[in-house]
Amino acid sequence: MYKKLFIPGPVPVHPEILAAMATPMIGHRMKEYAELHGRVTSGLKKVMVTEGKVFLATSSAFGVMEGAIRNLVGRRCVNFCNGAFSDKWHDVTLRCGKQADAVRFDWGRPVTPEAVEAALSTGKYDSMTMIHNETSTGVMSPLPEIAEVMRSYPEVMFIVDTVSSMSALNIPVDDLGIDSCIFGVQKAFALPPGLTVFTASEKALERAAGMEGRGYYFDYMEFAANDAKDNTPSTPCVSQIFAMDRQLERMFAEGLEARWERHRNLAGYVRDWLTSRGFELFPEPGYGSLTLTCARNTRGIDLALLKKRLGEIGFAFDDGYGKIKGQTFRIAHMGDMTRSDLDELLSAMIAIMPELAYH
Ligand SMILES: *Cc1c(COP(=O)(O)O)cnc(C)c1O
Repeated sequence: MYKKLFIPGPVPVHPEILAAMATPMIGHRMKEYAELHGRVTSGLKKVMVTEGKVFLATSSAFGVMEGAIRNLVGRRCVNFCNGAFSDKWHDVTLRCGKQADAVRFDWGRPVTPEAVEAALSTGKYDSMTMIHNETSTGVMSPLPEIAEVMRSYPEVMFIVDTVSSMSALNIPVDDLGIDSCIFGVQKAFALPPGLTVFTASEKALERAAGMEGRGYYFDYMEFAANDAKDNTPSTPCVSQIFAMDRQLERMFAEGLEARWERHRNLAGYVRDWLTSRGFELFPEPGYGSLTLTCARNTRGIDLALLKKRLGEIGFAFDDGYGKIKGQTFRIAHMGDMTRSDLDELLSAMIAIMPELAYH
């Protein structure tokens, strides 16, 4: 039996998208591919609100997260860490042989503009990484306020992971001054995993051009040269790009603003459902994610049992990630999910644990 996914990634994929993936194969050096590639990257430029380059890579998100480090980190990088994925990005930066420092926040807290200012004002860094929406903790950091600080440091590469947020709210890459914005498609974009999208500003391309040790697979220069022909350096995951083409059509049909509003509404709905039943939210108030909700198990319910029972009736439920596994649980409300999808899960939770109907 297939389980309906309420874990924060991968998330359910619409049948129309699965059907698009069954499109007969084309050669990536054929003009049919160039047309597809051009259409998909222009759609993505609208969603990401950028006139810069948008590249398609075949990998999980961490491939391109590593690529950004290899292309853009010169002298020294500061990695802002407030959860498992941002911690890992710091580790990846070091493993690439780069000089880097982590600025750490307690889990549940956002990256703050004050911490960004304090780190960059030392003058030690030529690059920074942060995760907009820390999927491990359900915390969304204040990107516009951080972008305001970044304006005073134009020489510092502003590298942002939006894996679990891009398209769920407005993230205008150029206005925010993001030099490289990265996302994998299996979370907020609700596609099967395997395709990654990343942008490069003019500054990012200039930095990459002079960088030693960029490697080949994620070399921004290779991507830029091929982009001029609406192509990729090596064979792309064409089926996933068919899926992306269909998903962009679906997004524009819904309307981007309607998509943002749907995410805001679902987030409010899940938060209210949980808090009215006596669960505390894990994130610092005001920084709860719009795409998933992470709650503390303040009622001391048997999360392992709940997960097991939900699994038996066809729902995949998450009981926390990394060091907060078991103490927290997360409910995803991203991608193409609707209120009725969530109601299926929430009523199943009550059916399994009747005490959840009440405070
Ligand atoms: C899931 C996730 C990643 C890792 O993605 P992979 O595709 O597994 O490499 C990175 N960042 C964030 C914010 C995520 O949610």
